Amino acid sequence: MASIKPFKDGDRNVKSGERQNNGSNLKMVPALLNEISMNQREKTRRKKVKAIPKVQLDGDSEVIMMNDGLVINKAKEEEEEENIANNGGGNGIKASVQNLQQYNPQDPDKVWNWIKSEQIFQEPIYSETAVRSQDYTRIVCISDTHSKHRRIHLPPGDVLIHGGDLTSHGNPSAISDLSKYFQEHSVFNEIICIAGNHDVTLHSEYYKKNWKRYHRFQGPFDCAAAEASLKKNCIYLRDSEYNKIHNNGVLRFYGSPWSPFFCDWAFNLDRGAPIQEVWRNIPSSTDVLITHGPPLGRGDLTLTNMRVGCFDLLVEIQDRIIPRVHVFGHVHEGAGVTFDGHTLYVNASNLDITYQAKNYPIVIDIPHDKSKPAQIVPPDCEIMNPQDLSNWCKDKEYHSLGDLFIEKADNLNNFSYGNNLFDPTACAEIANQLNITLDRDAQHMLRQALSKLYAESFPGK
Ligand SMILES: [Zn+2]
Repeated sequence: MASIKPFKDGDRNVKSGERQNNGSNLKMVPALLNEISMNQREKTRRKKVKAIPKVQLDGDSEVIMMNDGLVINKAKEEEEEENIANNGGGNGIKASVQNLQQYNPQDPDKVWNWIKSEQIFQEPIYSETAVRSQDYTRIVCISDTHSKHRRIHLPPGDVLIHGGDLTSHGNPSAISDLSKYFQEHSVFNEIICIAGNHDVTLHSEYYKKNWKRYHRFQGPFDCAAAEASLKKNCIYLRDSEYNKIHNNGVLRFYGSPWSPFFCDWAFNLDRGAPIQEVWRNIPSSTDVLITHGPPLGRGDLTLTNMRVGCFDLLVEIQDRIIPRVHVFGHVHEGAGVTFDGHTLYVNASNLDITYQAKNYPIVIDIPHDKSKPAQIVPPDCEIMNPQDLSNWCKDKEYHSLGDLFIEKADNLNNFSYGNNLFDPTACAEIANQLNITLDRDAQHMLRQALSKLYAESFPGK
């Protein structure tokens, strides 16, 4: 599936206004959210009762926080406790679906209309600093690079995660170049990768039947060789787990390439029983879940305003697994982050709906103290004026861009610098001020420079 934007998106627009005005782009962390502890998490799991924050849904897509704190909806809590009694312990989602006789698993948009009022959307937690600490594992999330990985500059971190759609059509040369790119990023201790629906050569059973659709004149390609070249330089998960040992214990990752049936691509399964079977194999102990497709209602809104995420996955995540982070992609236009109070949902798609590499990698710190929720790490950009930007460009060999920033400095003096350089609209605004909107090469250089600057705005170890 095509499609996105970091820090944009219906899911993410909660923050966009604030981000543009705040020089540091650091978010105020609502005190109450900091207090979500493992105890509470366990308590919630035990009681199977969800606290419902007061949110307002704007149409179907935008979530507007009415306040920062949790407003517990008592009536809802009581109703859910009643459901538990009636259903032997199922929580809100399952219980309400059992009551929905018309439930049609093939129509996620309709299901979303039934369940959305019970979904929790809280302001995600932002780190106050980009500084790294031994008490966290820093994960850098990318997805849906579709062979354009070399346009994505990577901030340093402990673990790099790729959420699938590595290629356009599974071409082995693209897979082996991605593998080389992984090898070049030895700054990561681990690189964890899954396939997506576009990576057709990584799904040999599917490719055997469908290869002519993609590679009639060049194929068939050797699926085993493609997979082997990928595995050389990363941990490739296909319905499997990886446990990372850190100073305080273990962080458990699980990856799965499947997504609900969509135009008969690779790793497609029908909604309902076939895909449920796959999700039920995900261990409950998973801390970081990686799937190619989004769950229903989280980073899954298409340009046509349809929810296309997987309801069956949402049920497993919220009723059983409760991972600390869920990384995915697939719906490019859904890029961004949402938080339900326990799980941070990260649609890490780097390409937008037109396959332009517009979205930056999303950086997350996972505290080793499991009582603390995962948090988003903002960059710490020190560029504060056109002169700084020009010097930086020249230093990184973007010479003509460096000269242009000086030539057009008067136009750019009122622009907000620092982390505002990475706002979703910043690149277009700068291009406009530089008068390069009709010059594709110059715009490409600007985008590349900003991507590199973003990556370098995170500290190394
Ligand atoms: Zn994609």
